[in-house]
Amino acid sequence: MKFKSAKINAFRTWGLLLTLLGMGLMILGTAGIVFWGSAGKVIAAVGLVIGLVAMMASLAIYFWAGMLSTSAVQLECPECRKLTKMLGKTDRCMFCHTILTRDPQLATVTAEQLERTE
Ligand SMILES: [Zn+2]
Repeated sequence: MKFKSAKINAFRTWGLLLTLLGMGLMILGTAGIVFWGSAGKVIAAVGLVIGLVAMMASLAIYFWAGMLSTSAVQLECPECRKLTKMLGKTDRCMFCHTILTRDPQLATVTAEQLERTE
């Protein structure tokens, strides 16, 4: 799966998705007790455990993204003139999704070529 967005934004998207998934499973699991009685308890337990794991994973991703963004390089996007952050040698602008690079050798590479090497 490939995201056409800045890496930090991709992390945030995954974190949010996992949080929603975790909450959804926990709600579904609790609803299982209401609808199926004692038989739903097993579904509830499984739902709660998976939901909790998903929430923990999302927390870890958020934490990791936070750590990464502190080491990210802040620069002005040459395309939209907004202040953006980039990770590694190549990343996309958070606002206009233009590919940015700090490596002079990659500066002439087109977007299609970069996608292939990634
Ligand atoms: Zn930009």
